[in-house]
Amino acid sequence: MAVKIDEEECMGCESCVEICPAVFGFNEDETKAFVIEGADLEANADCIEESIGSCPAACITND
Ligand code: SF4
Repeated sequence: MAVKIDEEECMGCESCVEICPAVFGFNEDETKAFVIEGADLEANADCIEESIGSCPAACITND
């Protein structure tokens, strides 16, 4: 599993950061979300899926 954010497309809404703070961080300078290095993706699979479903830019992928 590899969670990625297309930062070009990210609108900076912070929805994913609110839904799944163990996986998604927020770069205040660039107003873009990022995937936290070393985040436990398996333990947070449910909120990752919820974040993907809630992202208004549809820019989170989990392949
Ligand atoms: S939900 Fe999508 S658009 Fe919003 S901050 Fe996260 S990656 Fe960016």
